[in-house]
Amino acid sequence: MEWEAVIGLEIHAQLATASKIFSATSTAYGAEPNTQASAVDLGLPGVLPVLNEKVVEMAVLFGLAVGAKIANSSIFARKNYFYPDLPKGYQISQYDEPIVTGGCIEIQLQNGKLKIINLTRAHLEEDAGKSVHEGFDSSTGIDLNRAGTPLLEIVSEPHSAAEAVLYMRAMRRLVRYLEICDGNMQEGSLRCDANVSVRKTGDLTLGTRTEIKNLNSFRFVEHAIQFEIDRQIEIIESGGNVKQETMLYDADRQETRAMRSKEDAHDYRYFSDPDLLPIKITDDYIRTTAAALPELPVQKRKRFVEEFKLTPQDADVLCEDRAVASYFEAAAGESMGNARLCANWITGELFAAINASNLHIAASPIAPRALGILVSRIADDTISGKIAKQIFEEMWKTGLQPDELIVEKGLQQVTDDSVISDLVDKVLKDNPDQIGQYRAGKSKIFGFLVGQVMKLSNGKANPKQVNDILKKRLNREIN
Ligand code: ADP
Ligand code: MG
Repeated sequence: MEWEAVIGLEIHAQLATASKIFSATSTAYGAEPNTQASAVDLGLPGVLPVLNEKVVEMAVLFGLAVGAKIANSSIFARKNYFYPDLPKGYQISQYDEPIVTGGCIEIQLQNGKLKIINLTRAHLEEDAGKSVHEGFDSSTGIDLNRAGTPLLEIVSEPHSAAEAVLYMRAMRRLVRYLEICDGNMQEGSLRCDANVSVRKTGDLTLGTRTEIKNLNSFRFVEHAIQFEIDRQIEIIESGGNVKQETMLYDADRQETRAMRSKEDAHDYRYFSDPDLLPIKITDDYIRTTAAALPELPVQKRKRFVEEFKLTPQDADVLCEDRAVASYFEAAAGESMGNARLCANWITGELFAAINASNLHIAASPIAPRALGILVSRIADDTISGKIAKQIFEEMWKTGLQPDELIVEKGLQQVTDDSVISDLVDKVLKDNPDQIGQYRAGKSKIFGFLVGQVMKLSNGKANPKQVNDILKKRLNREIN
């Protein structure tokens, strides 16, 4: 029997504001437990939440980027439930009338084809605190630093299992481009709940779903969904029924476990929060925000392929991060039309150096323009690719310009035919045996002789000219 899995992700993106959604408390990651939780975050009696204007701007920016409808009026609701990390007894969220409705995002499938994933909605809400189990024997600690951190919950329409991770990657790239979320999954700034159900291929009705909570790595998303699909199929094939449950993914055991039976909306007793006014957004505000939209990753990728003739793979890698894409464009602009070579140097040497020293590309000691110039010096034969690597290393260490280093170290490529001829003659004179072997048909000797000439020139002779001149000489000697 053929089974088909249906997945719907709810992605939580922590909005990159300095303070919380309803209070002035800092959202900085990593503080001592409970040092960043104010009376408002805890909902103590007599306090009132005040909406952080910045989160509205970020939600609108997101909505515009995915082509969604921005609500002119949306409201906050109280989602009531009891949990130790939720001191108020309710979470402020949006239910009816979310700020963003509809929209879509494009993903690239394994076969290179593009596919649209539709979104249902995106709404604003506050995060809860965190239960801490490490460091306690039989008890659990509660850290409320995260309580009140602004979240944008992005809900997708159902799609296939293969699309889940691609969708999440595309979403991460987008929110990072928009600079509304840092996308740091390890720190929980971006995480998702995966809704999973299975049905017989061709069935139109959806199967009963389970929801796996809080997946904070692409690998976990992939493993958890696959585990859950297999588990559900096994239940149905052995005559049982899948229960609508909320699951937890245990990364150590790589399995999902039931946490609680899944609540329905009515269990939460949603009602609009009397402490908060509706969010009113004018068309003018939407227009102004739209003007601040950056070029989006999908558009940029397309432009890089067309304008710079990059391979789609290179364009993908360079567009993954907005800072990398800007670096590339600045470098390409200085490279005298050698954008593809720039792309190679960025994804090769530069990425290696940045990773080795754990730097962000914006902090690279080699400025994009300097790399562009270095590339143009290879292209115009001032230096060879091999020498360029030496210069790159020096640039990385000293921050000097490529031209300064080329002159200072006397590394200009030797392209004068008569100089190269002299070097070739000297090598031939010093290696009479090898000439004999070459004549006897050992063609590999040719490479050895090229190497000798290059060595004699300290790597500065133009390799192509060395090849040509050496070939001519040897043929003359043979004839
Ligand atoms: P809730 O708020 O209870 O989590 P929603 O209706 O907001 O439920 O849906 C959450 C997600 O679950 C959406 O991404 C939706 O596409 C997905 N979903 C809904 N029904 C199913 C199903 N039967 N199988 C898989 N995914 C589903
Ligand atoms: Mg849900």
